[in-house]
Amino acid sequence: MKIAFIGLGIMGKPMAKNLLKAGHELYVFDRRPETMEEMRDAGAHLCASSSETVKDVDLVITMLPNSPHVKSVMLEDDKLAEKMPRTAVFIDCSSINPDASREIAAALEKLGIEMLDAPVSGGQPKAVDGTLAFMVGGKQEVFDRFKPVLEAMGSSVVLCGDVGAGNVTKLVNQSIVAVNIAALAEGMQLGQMCGVEPQKIFEAIKGGLAGSTVMNAKAPMMMDQNFAPGFRIDLHIKDLNNIVDAAKTVDAPIPLSQMVLEMMKVLHHDGDGSCDHSALLKYYQKLSGEVLHH
Ligand code: NAD
Repeated sequence: MKIAFIGLGIMGKPMAKNLLKAGHELYVFDRRPETMEEMRDAGAHLCASSSETVKDVDLVITMLPNSPHVKSVMLEDDKLAEKMPRTAVFIDCSSINPDASREIAAALEKLGIEMLDAPVSGGQPKAVDGTLAFMVGGKQEVFDRFKPVLEAMGSSVVLCGDVGAGNVTKLVNQSIVAVNIAALAEGMQLGQMCGVEPQKIFEAIKGGLAGSTVMNAKAPMMMDQNFAPGFRIDLHIKDLNNIVDAAKTVDAPIPLSQMVLEMMKVLHHDGDGSCDHSALLKYYQKLSGEVLHH
């Protein structure tokens, strides 16, 4: 399949590489030229603009930071909706506001173009391994046709409902992950301050009810004070703001998400926005004056 792929950051680059490995022909663009070079060696066609990627393709994929970026590329600045073939389909893998997904899908529908919103969970290691979890919104027949393309990048591909349902599910995922990391940081810090070694706490509880994928991935990073991203605090603030916006529209109570958003905003203002979200630990370290150790 001929695929346009726009956005070659932490996630987009390994995802695009897995599409190449699966035998697809890729036309790629990122506004940071330095991030594209590696894709040439991997076998992609490097394009000078997003408009250049979409000529004669069967599918356009974006992996961009947030709603304004996707709207800019598809509708407002680059206007790919008007430039891509009417027979092609658009799949947005970015994590954006579900209302923005619906707005883009409605604009594309007027042109006769189908869309899936297909955000992912799993982070960079799973993007590299091709084992991401895709949560998808869109029509069943479009999903069935393009599921094999997503399966080249992920090990779980689930249709959650109509367009927007993928990003609603992703917001749920991001709320649970944020609160989980905060609870982990709070618990580990408490345990150490009460005199028990963090490593012992981790070993003792990871196999019980408190154990989780978050704990296995983030507790070692916290004990190492290794906050290299991974998933940046600033991107999680973006997701939590989208959660607040979505909750407002349906009057849903979200006290836990709101609280972790405030904690992350403190870290952002202290200059930690580019750290991995496991740096939520720093919030507790700053308040307690004690650093978590092994
Ligand atoms: P990133 O910032 O590393 O990559 C985004 C890329 O988009 C950058 O290379 C940037 O130059 C490019 N870009 C921005 N605007 C552009 C434009 N107008 N035209 C062309 N390129 C443009 O971000 P990421 O970590 O790869 O995340 C991408 C999306 O995936 C986000 O929505 C994020 O929330 C989501 N996500 C990230 C992770 C993770 O662990 N990093 C995990 C799951 C989901």
